[in-house]
Amino acid sequence: MKKISDSLAQLAKDFGNYPPNPLCTNSHTFKFKTIDIPRWATRFYYFKMTMKWLFKGVPDYDFSDTEGLVQTKNNLTHIKTTVSDFWKKFQDLNVIKQCGIGLFFILVFPFLLIFCLFFSIFYLGKIRTNSQALAFFLPQENTYEIVIHTKAINTCGRSIEALISHEHLHILQFRDERRVHCEAVKHRVTANLPLLLLEEHYNKPHYIYLFNRHETEARLHELVRSFYIEKNSLPEDLASFTSMLASCHKDINDLLNQPICQKVFWDGEESCSKILEMRCKATAEDISNILFFIKDDYLLVKYIKEVLFTMYGNLVRYYGDKDYSMKIMNLIEGPNLYSSLYPYK
Ligand SMILES: [Zn+2]
Repeated sequence: MKKISDSLAQLAKDFGNYPPNPLCTNSHTFKFKTIDIPRWATRFYYFKMTMKWLFKGVPDYDFSDTEGLVQTKNNLTHIKTTVSDFWKKFQDLNVIKQCGIGLFFILVFPFLLIFCLFFSIFYLGKIRTNSQALAFFLPQENTYEIVIHTKAINTCGRSIEALISHEHLHILQFRDERRVHCEAVKHRVTANLPLLLLEEHYNKPHYIYLFNRHETEARLHELVRSFYIEKNSLPEDLASFTSMLASCHKDINDLLNQPICQKVFWDGEESCSKILEMRCKATAEDISNILFFIKDDYLLVKYIKEVLFTMYGNLVRYYGDKDYSMKIMNLIEGPNLYSSLYPYK
């Protein structure tokens, strides 16, 4: 199943209207396709993409951290180096040997075809897929493809709409950063976790994944849109932002009502946030876990004030209002924990 949509329609779907109040935007929209395939068919999808890019050329971009993209690009590089190594060796041979090999290839052509067929089957089996992924996106020449596994999503009781929205947010991040060299972006998305977590935790893949800036931002987006659906207005300062966080999960609410947090965020008052109905409970759970993983209260306050709030500023930029995003960023003092956690190299 293939469905074509566009980014502004997706944001309107997320917020119930676009632009969400109080943003003013004149964003350009872009199209994307949503493709629903079973999980087992992912390797065929990567194989098809590898072949397409091999013969039609790789789309023009220079940043990657999506699973499908890395996989397809690695496959492509592998095939290209094998072919070019063979071609170099062939060119170094003398004419007689070249003719001999040429003749040999003509004679064994039918066998070569059979070999290619078997090689493709073998290669298909070698393609690594992330068995945990419920969805991912892949940039194409003039569009983007979001691949979803509806059956797997339904089995684990997740919201398909929330997963499409999550992947769409990754596309917005991708577009925001695509002019930057990929190595530099890597530093800006992978968190410097020893700054935040205890030694026994900071090498765990699950923590590395959750604190990846793109992943945290995509989860924060889900919280922001759920809050907006209820309140019809986006948070405009740190106090309303932390109230939003507190309203998304009971444990976050309890955490933020500790005296140290109350003092910093709400002038010592108690936040009486009503816990909102979340479209994707797992997302609020993830943000709650992130906050609980942080090693002490001092860092927790800094993380909310300087990291999550900066990420919120980034989200507003992805939504299309650069001025409002600047307004948020100007409320945050720098250099701060965000810049040490995701260093700009
Ligand atoms: Zn993600």
